[in-house]
Amino acid sequence: MALNGHLTFEKNEHAAKDFGNIYHFMPSVVLHPKSVSDISSTIKYIFEMGTSSELTVAARGHGHSLAGQAQAYQGVVINMESLREPEMSFHTGELSYVDVSAGELWINILHESLKRGLAPKSWTDYLHLTVGGTLSNAGISGQAFRHGPQINNVYQLQVVTGKGDVVTCSEELNTDLFYGVLGGLGQFGIITRARIALEPAPRMVKWIRALYSDFSIFSNDQERLISSEKSFDYIEGFVIINRTRLLTSWRSSFNPKYPLQASQFSSEGRILYCLEVAKYFNPDDSDLINQNIDTLLSELNYIQSTLFLSEVSYVDFLDRVHVSEIKLREKGLWEVPHPWINLLIPRSRIHEFAQEVFGNILADTSNGPVLIYPVNKSSWRNRTSMVTPDEDVFYLVAFLSSAIPSTTGKDALEYILTRNKRILRYCERSRLGVKQYLAHYSTQEEWKAHFGTHWEVFSRRKSTYDPLAILAPGQSIFQKAK
Ligand code: FAD
Repeated sequence: MALNGHLTFEKNEHAAKDFGNIYHFMPSVVLHPKSVSDISSTIKYIFEMGTSSELTVAARGHGHSLAGQAQAYQGVVINMESLREPEMSFHTGELSYVDVSAGELWINILHESLKRGLAPKSWTDYLHLTVGGTLSNAGISGQAFRHGPQINNVYQLQVVTGKGDVVTCSEELNTDLFYGVLGGLGQFGIITRARIALEPAPRMVKWIRALYSDFSIFSNDQERLISSEKSFDYIEGFVIINRTRLLTSWRSSFNPKYPLQASQFSSEGRILYCLEVAKYFNPDDSDLINQNIDTLLSELNYIQSTLFLSEVSYVDFLDRVHVSEIKLREKGLWEVPHPWINLLIPRSRIHEFAQEVFGNILADTSNGPVLIYPVNKSSWRNRTSMVTPDEDVFYLVAFLSSAIPSTTGKDALEYILTRNKRILRYCERSRLGVKQYLAHYSTQEEWKAHFGTHWEVFSRRKSTYDPLAILAPGQSIFQKAK
């Protein structure tokens, strides 16, 4: 088989590792493709061996999965970041977009787009992830209430199926494959190219945080904000458990609007909820934007003394998690196990969830940030493979825990995993209608329950596009045909 790129049979440990740092499956070989035909001929070769071969293939984006999803035990891992074609190519006009290789990092797309005064519309909180990796899940952040997730903001894909065929798909062309691949957990094909929607980029961001001690007041305000046309451009929030010195730790980047009152505010170990919002602007519009923000804030019911403001460039705002990454790396705390769980919770059940989980199960520590914000599903594409709760508004609640290796007690991996199970068991027992995002299950029965009525379409698409179940074995949904 002639390749433009190359294969490595040794020193492939990185391909058996991911951000979760809990599961490690060694592949037999890693393909570093230089062209789409490297990917299609590799898959075709394996497909044509049929059931006589046990080889599976996993595309590896930036390897920021949590539970081995981009790994392939004794199989082939495709290092998507080495695929550099096509070069990023921009189209401006009524519909602006950029064509990119699916192995491209979102941070690079941001920098290149900004040179043309443009930017993608919908993001993840962290940008050092590949296009193929986030489009295989959804790509949800504080812009999703307005623009939908990243899978909403793609016009066209090029995909290599599990038979090795190279197919271009969109809303008009090969529609079933297009929707299948979006949120499809890598099951139906390897995305090699994507056409991403762009909009004019702002230069600056007013970034605002305010605290609440009452969950109902907090969530009412969040829901009001996501349902209004004239709202902020980004809406998220997080839970603060048992932190007494929080206000001082914010001082470096946020300024209190009312310094004296803020210095007197004490959280006293209470659970607090922090609304986090942002408004984009260009320096010429600063006065107008300030008025606009004052009006929006005047309709909210946060604790008045806890309003904090910051003004940063658009890039610094979007790339904010990278700043934490650098600090954590310096302390050796980035490459630790990350037993994260991400839940999508119907709006009608969020109050009971908050009461039990924040008030009882988490009790005194969360081992990392707990994000919580509502999104409005009405503007989301509903034919993709992604499954969500059955209500129009649901909350994303992300428990972003870090475990400290070689410790016991509340920072230990086992402790956090047990607590995660308690949260999931509670959701199941109380029939909250929760769906996991970036889920990890080990049996097909669990996946069937996850997909519910969508399972039939999902498994039909699998037999159409990857009939031997060669692709993305790390998701543990289908077994390679023997
Ligand atoms: P990988 O981990 O390499 O791959 C993920 C899955 O997609 C695997 O199954 C893999 O086989 C498959 N895959 C990879 N590339 C392709 C391709 N080209 N074609 C087909 N399948 C492919 N997610 C959000 O939605 N919102 C967030 O705000 C967010 N923040 C995050 C912050 C951090 C610090 C981290 C570590 C993750 C975050 N995530 C977030 C999760 C992230 O979107 C997913 O883990 C994503 O899969 C990571 O992209 P990756 O390039 O590392 O993918």
